[in-house]
Amino acid sequence: MPERFTVTTPIYYVNDVPHIGHAYNEVATDVLARWHRMRGDDTWMLTGTDEHGQKIMRTAAANGVSPQEWTDRLVESAWIPQLELLNIANDDYIRTTSERHKVGVRIFLERLKEAGYIYHGEFEGQYCVGCEEYKTANDLVPGTGEFEGQLVCAIHSRPIEVVREANYFFKLSEFGDRLLALYEERPDYVQPEHVRNEVRQFVKQGLNDLSISRNTFDWGIKVPWDETHVVYVWFEALLNYITANGYGVDDELFARRWPAVHIVGKDIARFHAVIWPAMQMAAGIEISSHVFGHGWLLVGGEKMSKSKATGIEPRQITEVFGVDAFRYYFMSAIAFGSDGSFSWEDLDARYHAELANGLGNLASRVIAMVHKYCDGVVPEVAVDADILALTTDAVGRAERAIDRFAIDEAVDAAMSIVERLNGYITEQAPWVLAKDEAQRDRLAAVLASNVHGIGAAAILLAPVMPETAQKLWAAVGGEGDVLAQRIQAAHEWQGTGRVTTVPPLFPRIEQAQPAS
Ligand SMILES: [Zn+2]
Repeated sequence: MPERFTVTTPIYYVNDVPHIGHAYNEVATDVLARWHRMRGDDTWMLTGTDEHGQKIMRTAAANGVSPQEWTDRLVESAWIPQLELLNIANDDYIRTTSERHKVGVRIFLERLKEAGYIYHGEFEGQYCVGCEEYKTANDLVPGTGEFEGQLVCAIHSRPIEVVREANYFFKLSEFGDRLLALYEERPDYVQPEHVRNEVRQFVKQGLNDLSISRNTFDWGIKVPWDETHVVYVWFEALLNYITANGYGVDDELFARRWPAVHIVGKDIARFHAVIWPAMQMAAGIEISSHVFGHGWLLVGGEKMSKSKATGIEPRQITEVFGVDAFRYYFMSAIAFGSDGSFSWEDLDARYHAELANGLGNLASRVIAMVHKYCDGVVPEVAVDADILALTTDAVGRAERAIDRFAIDEAVDAAMSIVERLNGYITEQAPWVLAKDEAQRDRLAAVLASNVHGIGAAAILLAPVMPETAQKLWAAVGGEGDVLAQRIQAAHEWQGTGRVTTVPPLFPRIEQAQPAS
């Protein structure tokens, strides 16, 4: 039986315009999914959009269209095209306005109510419409500028609204001890460690029951037993992970796909590692495998967001550097789980050093030498022992890194092959060996070793740079699709055919940053 790997992005709030913060999450999740597919795991990548709530209703009205028309337009014009732009191979895309989601949400709510975890009560709280979330005193900061003298949301820098409602509540407060036990029993459930600590700390302070319905507006999923209420958008959105996978409707499918791994930004780890597991416990569903909270992308020291004018559209980068370089840069330059700073200078420097001069140059030199010295035929001789040890070690390191969600370390392991081969060529100097008939065998071994190393690196880099990896793979005579290779056996590959040609993979770029 292949292992199961169901992995999810958050469903993105459709009202935002996609920026590289979203792209970062999408690419990371896609890399993990592609990696597991190449292992032969039963892999399923889910992404989608969160389309209900007051904020969307207000924006739609401001634009003179219905909320459904508004979300349809954003999904079609922005969110789906972004997935295509970034070469994301998601298996499914769920919209919270879809019928399958609504059906699953109603089934889930009925079960929760039957189990006694839902009651009707009164509540007054400080609500941020931007976050679609009630705020506690700790979440608020003094406002500045036009909001001087008021408390504002720390994320949106805008005043909160005092909301008083008679709503349905989920008995979240009953799950504190069970959640703390979960974090103890499964230390790798919430990752990385600093996010786990933050979540534990939050639960230790004590949990309040959660208001899960609203009756002041109607853009949402109706509560099945009281149609004057719609379900709180976050509560309903979290359910996409199961409604997309057959929950309550197709038990066989659900058993195959569930539980899942959630890749989220650390700012929403609390929803995923506190509220969501409590909901799962209450409904008797198996708890998700992992919640990984990655860091923020910072531009000039600030979290990237459209509202703060630091938003950069992925297209601005891909148009200059290409999609694969975009994917490579964000996966390699930032330790996955930590915050990372984006700058055009850093991107430009890494592109030229690591991709153009490192990988691109290695491939074109080796292919040219096999043509020149061996008429394009890869010598069928043993690979040098130290090069075989190099690729074996790189595969082992990369595999272990992926199991820890350390995507950057996996990329680093793959690139260690490239770096070493460039040094190896200089040391072995095939152009010198070629002048000496007595060194024919040695020359053959050096070229075979290089071809082997490039092939292994192409396999390891395929989840990150699918298109470049395929070109490299074809250039060294690899057969078929590089994504069909077994990634855990990348070091066992040895070229036996003919090399072809390698197109320019990473052309030099004169002006990196678009003129503003
Ligand atoms: Zn907010």
